[in-house]
Amino acid sequence: ELDPLPPLTPDFLRVLNRVCEQCYSDFAPDDLENGVRELILQDLESFVRRQFAGARLQLFGSSKNGFGFRQSDLDICMVLEGKETMDDFDCINIIKGLARQLKKHPGLKNILPITTAKVPIVKFYHIRTGLEGDISLYNTLALHNTRLLASYAAIDRRVKILCYIMKVFAKMCDIGDASRGSLSSYAYTLMVLFFLQQRNPPVIPVLQEIYDGKTKPEVLVDGWNVYFFDDLKTLPRHWPQYGKNTETVGELWLGLLRFYTEDFDFREHVVCIRQHARLTTFNKQWTSKYIVIEDPFDLNHNLGAGLSRRSMINFYVTFFVNCTLLSQFFCFFFMFLHFCHQ
Ligand code: ATP
Ligand code: MG
Repeated sequence: ELDPLPPLTPDFLRVLNRVCEQCYSDFAPDDLENGVRELILQDLESFVRRQFAGARLQLFGSSKNGFGFRQSDLDICMVLEGKETMDDFDCINIIKGLARQLKKHPGLKNILPITTAKVPIVKFYHIRTGLEGDISLYNTLALHNTRLLASYAAIDRRVKILCYIMKVFAKMCDIGDASRGSLSSYAYTLMVLFFLQQRNPPVIPVLQEIYDGKTKPEVLVDGWNVYFFDDLKTLPRHWPQYGKNTETVGELWLGLLRFYTEDFDFREHVVCIRQHARLTTFNKQWTSKYIVIEDPFDLNHNLGAGLSRRSMINFYVTFFVNCTLLSQFFCFFFMFLHFCHQ
């Protein structure tokens, strides 16, 4: 057993809070940068339409969910007008055709179709902005989870800031690259939201559990219910705990590190943002994984499944060290980051 942390001085908390806020203002894109993303999208759409007449392109992921960095990739979903779904075979063919078409675009390079992944994509690099991106097909659930994340981000600005800090933290500590066996940004965001729902008093509600009437409305997409409460203007009326939590971002951040190192049992608990009652790995029959993160809509999808043993150790050590041993140093770590950035 380690000794409990010494009480934090008000000065320390103030500095920590400042650094957290700064982290957000340093990395958040402004309206101009968001506008550029829309322009790239429009340009790509009209270019793709030369080959695929009914193509419609839509941004999702961090370009839309409120947790984007200046350099975040462009996640684009393509559908063909009048076509509801597409089977895997057609998908792969279209991805290949799309790659051939994009290779002719003078503003792009490094076009790479990836047809073996669970979601086939074409990757590209946008030369003028230096942004990377990928286009997937009929990634409909991702559009809905993007909307869900955006709604949580809109409830309270602390949500946005904490998700940013978590992403910066994961990237800086090198525990945030899904292609190398770590967790994805999306998974980290779900971890932050889960913490904020479980906090007492909670910072955010469980939007999927709020509805008028007795039964939860059903909006089916790919066989999953994607309903959630999105009429945020009336949220205070529907959620009695609205505004009850008044902690600062700094306090919440330390709370988060403590939550995942002290309260949360990785073997037993599931990170699950669709219900307030704790779900266990036993309920899900998802045992022997290092961390179980349930997708809010696709309930068969465990975002922790791809985590390698090595990454899990890195992940845990990083959290643990930051939380219990170096909480003072940690503050400087962020300041350092801030100066590097300038
Ligand atoms: P970043 O700023 O790092 O790009 P991001 O939120 O865009 O963050 P990505 O990893 O690029 O995260 O994922 C983009 C979107 O794709 C997510 O918002 C989510 O909708 C969807 N997504 C990503 N990974 C998964 C996954 N493992 N399962 C389901 N959906 C996913
Ligand atoms: Mg992205």
